[in-house]
Amino acid sequence: MVKSRKFLFAIVALVTIAQAVQLNHWAYFGAPINSQDITKAFVEFDEIFETGTSLVSSLWPVWLAQALSLAFFVTAVLYTKKCRHTPFMWGVVLLALAVNPMLSYLKGHQLFHTKPISSTLHNTLRAFSDWLVNKQVKLHDFHYKPYVITYSQPKVKNVVFIMGESVSSRYMQLYGYGEPNTPFLEKLKSDVNFAYAKGISSSVDTLTALQLFFNNAHNPGFTDLINSKAANLFRLARHQGYKTFLISAQGEGLFHEIGTQFIDIYSFKKDILKSLKEKGDEALFDVLTGQEFGDKNFIVIHLRHIHEPYGNWEKYFPHMQTKKSINSRKQQTKNEYSHAISYHDHWVKECITCIKKILPSDTVVVFTSDHGQLVGEDGLFGHNLMRSEVVDVPVWAYAINTDHSLNHYIKSQKICSHYDLGKQIAKLFGAEITNPNEDSTLQFVHGTELHTNYEYMPWKKTNGRAEFLKTEKIGVTAK
Ligand SMILES: [Zn+2]
Repeated sequence: MVKSRKFLFAIVALVTIAQAVQLNHWAYFGAPINSQDITKAFVEFDEIFETGTSLVSSLWPVWLAQALSLAFFVTAVLYTKKCRHTPFMWGVVLLALAVNPMLSYLKGHQLFHTKPISSTLHNTLRAFSDWLVNKQVKLHDFHYKPYVITYSQPKVKNVVFIMGESVSSRYMQLYGYGEPNTPFLEKLKSDVNFAYAKGISSSVDTLTALQLFFNNAHNPGFTDLINSKAANLFRLARHQGYKTFLISAQGEGLFHEIGTQFIDIYSFKKDILKSLKEKGDEALFDVLTGQEFGDKNFIVIHLRHIHEPYGNWEKYFPHMQTKKSINSRKQQTKNEYSHAISYHDHWVKECITCIKKILPSDTVVVFTSDHGQLVGEDGLFGHNLMRSEVVDVPVWAYAINTDHSLNHYIKSQKICSHYDLGKQIAKLFGAEITNPNEDSTLQFVHGTELHTNYEYMPWKKTNGRAEFLKTEKIGVTAK
């Protein structure tokens, strides 16, 4: 009924792009896209391309279906050129498209939570509409009080903090998983210098988890803390005379707002691209051994493993073959994931050997992961979903001829969150962080875009277990 061909092609193009994002997200994660994750689809294109191309065998039906429907629409638009047209029909189409953004604006976001059994088109129109409107929304002012930092003598000269990638503790032998995939860490259990606990990450997303962790953020919507860097770990370390390092196997884009202004030495993926390809994350040891250390050092090592595709890590650790299973994505993914954990255990062993060589005394090595991973639970994969499995991470510390206070802390905790761990790391520098907005029973898992009205999931430590409460959205149900 619409006369203008240009208008029709523009509408078809918009729907096609939105549906491409939706269908690929759905096929990969097993759930429709959330309005908060849409920006990522356009920003993290390289990463999505890499994961997508490695999964051609399972994603091709989606691409074929999209190509066929696009061909159908284009043919239809061309063939209906001579049909009868109704004047101002384009206005009706625009009005129909405006319904969802208007609803999002008027009724709020609860209406826009994804519905896994509705049609993709329904979810797409809603998610994209909410995304368009959401960006305009100003953050609620929570009147949080500023943190108080008190300084004393540093406790440990060298703090090596390792931020893992996508490591879930429930798939590690160390935490009771059925496969012998962490023999090195398993052996450390009886070492007095080693302590471990179950961890809960601060977010379900890499970039957000890094921002929250390094700024020791806790309360939902406290973006002023992140902007001000008042409790930033690099800042506190530098204040206490530490030389600060960030050695990462990932791209620079992830370090937005983590306090790079307080880092003395950086090394990113692009600096060591060739050797990362050849040696995997063991390439980081070359960067580490090549450093000139100060009297006191805070060294952050940021890993790329065991990020997807998990099978890619096999080539750096070929001693064990992944069992190939047929026609079960879930089983295959589980096998590859468990194997990637074996590679991780091997990497940890090499890492501790390396650190003992370069910093043989007064050194604490601390590990956690940015977030965990869904490996087929309820048919879901990847991270970004607000679920307890996604925030399940390991936390451990290893003391090399030094103070054991962090070990004692970890041993005393059945559960240690990113927030708890960040505060303890600051203590090693001799910096005590006091957050006047803290509720001693509540902690939070944050959603993906901190500067919007994102979702967060409150949780409580109950009898050594994490009890997750209902997900809330900032400015909607939160006070
Ligand atoms: Zn990550």
